[in-house]
Amino acid sequence: MIEILFLENVHTRTATITEIMSVKANTGNAKMSEELLCSRCGVNVRAPYQRWCRECRSEYNREYNATHREQINEKRKARLASMSEATRALKKAQAHRRYMERREEIREYQRRYYEEHREAILEYGRVYREAHRRV
Ligand SMILES: [Zn+2]
Repeated sequence: MIEILFLENVHTRTATITEIMSVKANTGNAKMSEELLCSRCGVNVRAPYQRWCRECRSEYNREYNATHREQINEKRKARLASMSEATRALKKAQAHRRYMERREEIREYQRRYYEEHREAILEYGRVYREAHRRV
């Protein structure tokens, strides 16, 4: 039974290979297996160092953000309204600087990603162009 559960997880990609292997190694110990399953749905393997699985966590986050979006935006507006013109300008400049720093970091990640997956990306491009070629 437990074995089938983990095979399903492979298909739904809710757990990494390492997580599945670590659970499989403990299938003889029922208590241990239970502890490794998500405490919310009880089906998927827990995310590393978490009590819930990845799907439950992202579902919760989606719901939380959706229900609190109004409040978050209201708070942001109120904070901006209470600032002086100078403070607002300073905050804007600081945010821009953070963005510029982050942009470099993101570009670095993209560059590294491209290097590591160059062949796969080129192959994808070839297949894509082939499929979308104008007749
Ligand atoms: Zn779950």
